[in-house]
Amino acid sequence: ATSSVGFIGLGNMGLPMSINLANKANDSKMDVIAFDANPTALNLAKEAGMRTASSVEEIGASNCSVIITMLPGCQAVDAVTPILLESSDPNASTLFVDCSTVHPSTSRRWNDELKEKGHTRMDAPVSGGVKGATDGTLTFMVGCDDPATLQQAQPLIMGQRSIHCGTAGAGSATKLCNNLALAAQMLGICEAMNLGESLGVDPIVLAQVMNTSTAKSWSCEVNNPHPVVATDRGTGAAANRYQGGFGSKLMQKDLSLAVSAGADAGVALPVGVLSKELYHMATLHGLGDKDFGVMLQFLRGQKP
Ligand code: NAD
Repeated sequence: ATSSVGFIGLGNMGLPMSINLANKANDSKMDVIAFDANPTALNLAKEAGMRTASSVEEIGASNCSVIITMLPGCQAVDAVTPILLESSDPNASTLFVDCSTVHPSTSRRWNDELKEKGHTRMDAPVSGGVKGATDGTLTFMVGCDDPATLQQAQPLIMGQRSIHCGTAGAGSATKLCNNLALAAQMLGICEAMNLGESLGVDPIVLAQVMNTSTAKSWSCEVNNPHPVVATDRGTGAAANRYQGGFGSKLMQKDLSLAVSAGADAGVALPVGVLSKELYHMATLHGLGDKDFGVMLQFLRGQKP
């Protein structure tokens, strides 16, 4: 029998992920049905040949064995999940896979509620960006109470790697920790590149040395925020006026979640708080849609 997989949230990440899944579904006995509240996104999915629904309710009523969500954040997950619950067959059991980056407490709350209603759930936020979503090379950070749930979801994992991080909420927590460290790393590289250049060091030489020294990192090597370095290396959004990378606004959102989770847990995050405030300011200055390496320009008081 063919089993249906619902996919909700066809944005920058969800669209390529759902297209990859639908292509894969052709060879397995899976039928993907997709929805997004934004008509433009829904049309893009239609144009890509996807089967689409016209509402969240329609996905709920489609007897899906699995429903994947790739939504902006907690608010959207809190809006969509109750509708799915209300519109689905109360006697059927569905696996809910939430790939959105959300607060660990949001994941745990939905895990408990869905479990109570006879469903299973895992938080499975991803790392790898739009490129990883398109190439099918994402890493999934999975939180679920029973590791067997991850086994069940394995055919759906469109990336190369999935890591069971722990019980419900542990995937969300892991994702926030990664991005907390990433933000601090990027800000450090931005400051160092700005200082080096001001002191007369060629940015290409500076990056070369750092990448063979202890400052070697993804933010220095793959996504160097200096336009001259990014152009020279042929990789990084800075080469393209900070377009098409990981948006400062999304980084601000993830940092807000991390700081809130830190407050809940009573953990001091001074660097996280400062990073969050810097990305908030950059967003207020109209840089929210630019790659988070744009901080190099922001710290110079320049527009990219
Ligand atoms: P996006 O804003 O491009 O896409 C989200 C989509 O959800 C939009 O198309 C929107 O219309 C849809 N949506 C919102 N509310 C809805 C609702 N109530 N019903 C139906 N559809 C609704 O965001 P994205 O870049 O695809 O990111 C999705 C998630 O993945 C976020 O949590 C983000 O933090 C995370 N993430 C993003 C990246 C990246 O590089 N963009 C990388 C890793 C993780």
